[in-house]
Amino acid sequence: MKVEQRFGPGHRILVTGGAGFVPSHLVDSLIGRGCTVVVLDNFVTGAKENIAHLLDTPNFTLVEADVSDGLPDHPALAERFDAILHMASPASPTDFEKLPVEILRVGSVATLHLLERAAADGARFLLASTSEAYGDPKEHPQRETYWGNVNPIGIRSVYDEAKRFSEAATMAYRRSRGVDTAIVRIFNTYGPRMRPDDGRAIPTFISQALRGEPITVHGTGNQTRSICYVADLVRGILLLLDSTESGPVNCGTEHEMSMRELAETIISLCDSKSEVTYVTRAADDPEMRRPDLTLAREVLGYEPTVTPEVGLRRTIEHFRGRMA
Ligand code: NAD
Ligand code: UDP
Repeated sequence: MKVEQRFGPGHRILVTGGAGFVPSHLVDSLIGRGCTVVVLDNFVTGAKENIAHLLDTPNFTLVEADVSDGLPDHPALAERFDAILHMASPASPTDFEKLPVEILRVGSVATLHLLERAAADGARFLLASTSEAYGDPKEHPQRETYWGNVNPIGIRSVYDEAKRFSEAATMAYRRSRGVDTAIVRIFNTYGPRMRPDDGRAIPTFISQALRGEPITVHGTGNQTRSICYVADLVRGILLLLDSTESGPVNCGTEHEMSMRELAETIISLCDSKSEVTYVTRAADDPEMRRPDLTLAREVLGYEPTVTPEVGLRRTIEHFRGRMA
């Protein structure tokens, strides 16, 4: 299936969380297409340096605000939007303990505020959902038809259940208000602009390997993830945005590996003398994760192209540059 570009010059796009890791790459692509982009971010986990290169661009505006409080009065938000991309949310498991209520709010009330605005504007609404919607999955690989295995009161529930609520809200506005909606379920993504200290495996392992410190693998390290380079993910999200598909559609890669293998790969690519150390694993940590990409291939023509070796090398170079 070939998807034609639908959003380009003359289109106004609102990106919540646009100063974050994944969203800032998405914003770069939208600006590159000639779209007018408004980023709404409160910098709870994002960084100004991710968008600093855009601040003088005429078709870019940054609005600093908490989207969970609704859309603030601001001239850049007064005019109609053609598309609204709800990307805002802390996403690292370490944030689940530090920012539980903030995560619940941005995945619930903020989603409702944005869906109301999409309904009023007749805008396409795209929700950044997650493979965490599948919880600790009992089906492998995970297809979009799988309903998941989530502990509703566990430490991860603030994120998993908020995203599941956001998905339900998105479908409700589609069915009852006719909003043009799309849901992407994003699998583990990595690349430049991740925070070295954000607690996720790849930035943590790279920072430790570059400093020659022990690599902290949780548990036995046999748990798996399928890792996706950010450029592949952004291409998938844009294909979904341009299409008329509602999803949910999985986006990621089938490069599944154990966390022990990931640690060893990073040690080798960094040419590091670090050793692996095994530390306590958090509760409810999913045992395995790999997307079934059949739907993404069929309806979007999506195909990831970056191998873990190439993607990790690029990410390591970025981290090296920042540490220098
Ligand atoms: P990130 O933390 O780098 O980006 C999130 C951005 O949202 C940050 O800039 C943050 O400041 C902003 N934000 C958070 N709460 C906000 C609020 N209330 N108001 C305004 N701005 C707010 O995280 P990321 O990894 O780039 O994730 C981006 C999106 O993709 C998130 O919705 C996340 O759930 C989703 N996702 C990411 C991954 C991944 O592997 N990176 C996987 C699944 C889903
Ligand atoms: N992990 C690890 N060491 C770390 C950070 C994470 O072994 O320092 C493990 C974590 O327990 C999980 C996997 O790596 O099994 C992926 O964790 P991450 O936080 O990157 O993403 P998640 O898939 O949990 O959202």
